[in-house]
Amino acid sequence: YGEEEHSQDYLFKIVLIGDSAVGKSNLLARFARDEFYPNSKSTIGVEFQAQKIFIDGKEIKVQIWDTAGQERFRAVTSAYYRGAVGALVVYDISRRQTYDSIGRWLSELHTHSDMNVITILVGNKSDLHDTREVGIDEGKSLAEAEGMFFMETSALNSSNVSSAFETIVKEIYNILA
Ligand code: GDP
Ligand code: MG
Repeated sequence: YGEEEHSQDYLFKIVLIGDSAVGKSNLLARFARDEFYPNSKSTIGVEFQAQKIFIDGKEIKVQIWDTAGQERFRAVTSAYYRGAVGALVVYDISRRQTYDSIGRWLSELHTHSDMNVITILVGNKSDLHDTREVGIDEGKSLAEAEGMFFMETSALNSSNVSSAFETIVKEIYNILA
């Protein structure tokens, strides 16, 4: 390697979906910049964040898309989903209602994107032990039923955040590359 141009091997678009305030923007902030916002507002959402991940010595450029809060109005547009090869479908383990919404998010995803989009179910806020409303077993069984990967994460204490993104990117790579 000298100064020669390093060709970009792959570019994957991944979208973050799930109810408002489940921690989508903070998962991305933690993964991309190792930051956390204790009182984040929807305004911190960027359109997408580009990240490089190396798998098998291949440089994989990942575009991770975050909403700017429009999910609150059920107004995520088809442009958001267009071309996505992966999705992190996020709920908050301390709010059952956000887990109950997963089916709706999956049908929206499948309406707007390729059926083969790779999905990981993410139960975020695993640090909130005392106010947990959704068991790990419930996350696992829903993921299994829907053919998704599964992980509980905490954007607050970083638990499993990189793993969740890396798992989905590796899987996309294994299938598409
Ligand atoms: P979004 O609407 O899904 O993008 O959610 P945000 O990322 O804006 O987070 C909503 C709120 O939950 C903010 O007050 C965050 O600080 C908080 N939050 C996000 N992730 C976690 C987490 O892992 N643990 C805890 N305890 N709070 C979190
Ligand atoms: Mg957000």
